[in-house]
Amino acid sequence: MARVPRIKKLESTRLASTYGGWIYCGECGQSIGYLCYVTYDHFRFAYKCKCGSRGSIRIDFEQENQNIYSDKKLITIKNRLCCPEDQSPLFTVLEKNLDSYNYEIECVKCKTKYAEEKTL
Ligand SMILES: [Zn+2]
Ligand SMILES: [Zn+2]
Repeated sequence: MARVPRIKKLESTRLASTYGGWIYCGECGQSIGYLCYVTYDHFRFAYKCKCGSRGSIRIDFEQENQNIYSDKKLITIKNRLCCPEDQSPLFTVLEKNLDSYNYEIECVKCKTKYAEEKTL
């Protein structure tokens, strides 16, 4: 099932594959996370790397809808942040390589949106 993103923007960031895989800081090349390929509709991730560089990712497959953000937090299963409704694996953040980050992600299965902001 090949899906084509409607919007894909990477700033100072490299992604191992077209819309998933390992995420690298575009400045120092350090891996900063991992994005699962088929479990999200929208992904926004902005971060400050330990090297001082700021980067961001935005990938949208579907038209942005007005889904309400869940006040639940993603759950961690084997280092992967997962949807608390259906346990879909979504992404991983390598916090040890970052100073701060924030994200928004929408689960493709249950169409729930999650957001969080963290300073480490
Ligand atoms: Zn860096
Ligand atoms: Zn879900």
